[in-house]
Amino acid sequence: MSIAALPPLRDGLAAAGLLAKKSFGQHFLLDLNVTRKIARAAGPLEGAVVIEVGPGPGGLTRALLESGAVHVVAVEKDPRFVEHLADLAAIAEGRLTVVEADALDVDESALLADHGRGLPVRIIANLPYNVATPLLIKWLTGPFRPASMTLMFQREVADRIAAPVGSDAYGRLSVLAQALAKASVVMKLPARAFTPPPKVDSAVVRLDPREDRPSDALTQKLEIITRHAFGQRRKMLRSSLRGVGGEALLLAAGVDPNARAETIDVDGFLRLAQALPDS
Ligand code: SAM
Repeated sequence: MSIAALPPLRDGLAAAGLLAKKSFGQHFLLDLNVTRKIARAAGPLEGAVVIEVGPGPGGLTRALLESGAVHVVAVEKDPRFVEHLADLAAIAEGRLTVVEADALDVDESALLADHGRGLPVRIIANLPYNVATPLLIKWLTGPFRPASMTLMFQREVADRIAAPVGSDAYGRLSVLAQALAKASVVMKLPARAFTPPPKVDSAVVRLDPREDRPSDALTQKLEIITRHAFGQRRKMLRSSLRGVGGEALLLAAGVDPNARAETIDVDGFLRLAQALPDS
């Protein structure tokens, strides 16, 4: 049987008696037109290995396999879906591996093992909302370096990731994400696109890590500076950064001490991080 000839996802769930569990953040995409659109937003997948987090009933997984990925490694915490996806894995003829694990703990390099050594690895997922931001931070700052990430977040988080300087949504997450990757919202989805519908709308963000990304040491300093700066975002930086060098640091970085965090662009924050002495 081919992937296209598989029964509709909804029928598969009903036949297996599978209901969504809130504790796993389960909101499923059962329309393959939508999952194919997400796969397309991730760019050409031929010649790439894909890590998918939370395949659930496998709608996005089907689209990823159809779009020609060399191999898909899907990490799923709910054992019911690991079992459920055995049929898809059989049809995929060795191109799909489903691993039962918590994506927060997983070592991505070990996970890939022998799959497509040397090929670019793209992370593509409709993420469980409760762990979406920690997963993004892990993939942006951790030792594993994906070639790209195409990730579904709740709309408000997606907006924060891609927010331009000066906007209401611009904050710590925007600075960290944009210092490390080019980030843009590529698709918006209303809550009704999911089964069961969540309380909020969603959006897909595409993140392409920067080739000139800051070093790990500089990233750590950026985390410190942004924590202080946005911890008290209404205050002037001379005051919110008092504990990490205050006015002297701001002047050394060429940033106006009377400015507020939300008016400083990513380059400004990088200059502040560079000016911060080693601790
Ligand atoms: N990809 C499916 C879809 O689009 O229909 C399901 C998406 S649903 C929003 C999130 C999925 O992540 C669920 O299948 C859930 O069981 C799984 N999940 C939740 N927490 C997880 C974790 N920490 N690690 C791996 N998978 C997790």
